[in-house]
Amino acid sequence: MIEPNSQARLAENWQAVQRDVHAATTAAHRPLDSVTIIGVTKYVDAEMTLALVNAGCHVLGENRPQVLWKKNEEVVFPDDVRWHLIGHLQRNKLRRSLPFHPMIHSVDSPRLLTAIVEEATAQQIPTKVLLEVNISGEEAKTGLLPQDLRPMIESHLKSTDTGGVEIVGLMAMAGWGTDADAARQQFAATRELRDELAQQTGATLPELSMGMSGDFAAAIAEGATMVRIGSRLFEGLLPKH
Ligand SMILES: *Cc1c(COP(=O)(O)O)cnc(C)c1O
Repeated sequence: MIEPNSQARLAENWQAVQRDVHAATTAAHRPLDSVTIIGVTKYVDAEMTLALVNAGCHVLGENRPQVLWKKNEEVVFPDDVRWHLIGHLQRNKLRRSLPFHPMIHSVDSPRLLTAIVEEATAQQIPTKVLLEVNISGEEAKTGLLPQDLRPMIESHLKSTDTGGVEIVGLMAMAGWGTDADAARQQFAATRELRDELAQQTGATLPELSMGMSGDFAAAIAEGATMVRIGSRLFEGLLPKH
């Protein structure tokens, strides 16, 4: 069990994040239910993750599939918890991950998409995925180059055998150390790329996963439908670094 003080602080943080996300959504003249907050729990253990769920956050994001598996061995999460895998994913981790019905945000190669289709077919688990785009142009960043996306979407749409795997949108991260203006431009570029791809390919691509603790307001202003928020939720609960 975590301490009552920590549970109270977590509840406060969750309220504050919801309030700020709602404010950004309203400022962008968008309906409140158009933005989902994904609580990124990579900083904390299974008990603290469950405590966040108990505070009201039922949509969770993990970077590493092994951590998702382990936390689910250590505690029992309520059935309505939805998992999102947001970090680089190796193909050999799919078999054990799909039973958690995750949305996969980090499809960064045609090979990974093919492997997801194979595994989703084998396990009969329809899976929603996002294509991760390297919008900042940084070499160190993971993600597909913008010009790689169209052929991937087209060949997926053409395939008769997708195992229920659906490409539902794009995921992007602002480059390291970008200021607020530059981050906002990258989010806008991601939305424009999505609009262009939807037009070119006929895919719907409703989802835009962009924005983290430091830049979610800019992402929401530019059309984010999912914001991935970690450190803001655990303020006051983690050792200082
Ligand atoms: C850690 C992480 C986040 C959350 O970042 P915070 O700045 O802690 O909110 C979001 N997305 C990805 C891919 C991450 O790895």
